Amino acid sequence: MPRLVMKFGGTSVASIERIRNVAKHVARERAAGFDVAVVVSAMSGKTNELVGWCAEAAHLHDPREYDVVVSSGEQVTAGLLAMVLQDAGIPARSWLGWQAPVLTSDSHGSARILDIDGKGLIKGFAERGEVAVIAGFQGINKATGRITTLGRGGSDTSAVAVAAAIEADRCDIYTDVDGVYTTDPRIVPKARRLERVSFEEMLEMASLGAKVLQVRSVELAMLRKVKTFVRSSFDDPDHPRPGTLICDEEDIVENQVVTGIAFSKDEAQVTLRDVADRPGVAAAIFMPLAEANINVDMIIQVASEDSGATDMTFTVPTAEFERTKAILLKAQPQIGFASLHGANDVVKVSAIGIGMRSHAGVAARAFKALAEKGINIRAITTSEIKFSVLIEAAYTELAVRTLHSLYGLDKG
Ligand code: ADP
Ligand code: ASP
Ligand code: MG
Repeated sequence: MPRLVMKFGGTSVASIERIRNVAKHVARERAAGFDVAVVVSAMSGKTNELVGWCAEAAHLHDPREYDVVVSSGEQVTAGLLAMVLQDAGIPARSWLGWQAPVLTSDSHGSARILDIDGKGLIKGFAERGEVAVIAGFQGINKATGRITTLGRGGSDTSAVAVAAAIEADRCDIYTDVDGVYTTDPRIVPKARRLERVSFEEMLEMASLGAKVLQVRSVELAMLRKVKTFVRSSFDDPDHPRPGTLICDEEDIVENQVVTGIAFSKDEAQVTLRDVADRPGVAAAIFMPLAEANINVDMIIQVASEDSGATDMTFTVPTAEFERTKAILLKAQPQIGFASLHGANDVVKVSAIGIGMRSHAGVAARAFKALAEKGINIRAITTSEIKFSVLIEAAYTELAVRTLHSLYGLDKG
């Protein structure tokens, strides 16, 4: 029988009633002739609550114990869905990460899946006609025998990895929107649903803040050629719509220059004033940050000709803001700068599209449009299929809407 992976996110399993609705989607696919593996997230809000408890329990908590705590949300939903399916007359059993097993690296809190043994799941299909209900987001490290988690939003990655492991025909990611949109439909009501989006663009959109899919899940789908759809669990289970297919570039007929706009508030800006303008100064600033595993993103350097000094502005993830400032202040004598300024109230807004490869001046139009709205750009980065601007967070919605209209993405 053909196999199918169905993944349900937090809002799709938020209550017993919602879980019963999930069971109806599963029943439909089973009746259509599929062997089904379901991957579930924790009930919505649960993981945040668990993360909060860890922070409250100990300021610098043991990451191994953090994973024990935060992985528990998925255990609950896996068991509940298996019960509800059984209650509906469908054979089902739950699988925790360590039972499947989902083998991962040992980077607790952001582990990578190394291998999934699909044999047990397949045996369940063949011998007992059983739906496999797998707890997403979690795995186990073989060497240490400890529970791991895959980073926030990691159930998407669990689902794609299970689909690759059992050679499923497709992987359906059910969520609270009916597909991937040109931008977050909660921010821009005029956002349009995309029929298809290329792996490359989806990868950029996810990396640049569109949390509809975890970045790693898109990488894995691209690498393992998993046919992945994003669709809604809120559709009528008897009349579901197909959602958005993530596919190869070649499979997209209608090409736009810009496909989507993403934004991320997970950026903090750091500016060092009056840095000596001499060889080696960038290394003096960025080496200590690299050694501390801090990812620097946008960088701009503004030299003033007469003073022989320069200002260096760059961004780091919000979570690393305090650590970055502390490291730089400690290294101030070696680097040599006059003062350090930081801002947390910034947002990175990005436009993504494979059409940028062949069109010039795409970013320039955005700079003009933002200027006309009185939005000041603090930093810019560009690459082959995207550009990003760093602006004051208060202007997020205005900037996203402005770019969305500028590139003709508004729905008519
Ligand atoms: P789940 O709990 O099902 O994993 P998430 O909250 O992680 O769901 O992801 C779905 C959300 O992603 C949507 O509710 C939407 O607000 C947000 N989102 C951000 N950008 C986009 C986009 N371009 N298209 C669709 N949804 C998006
Ligand atoms: N429950 C986890 C989270 O909230 C994983 C997921 O939902 O994908 O991040
Ligand atoms: Mg998610």
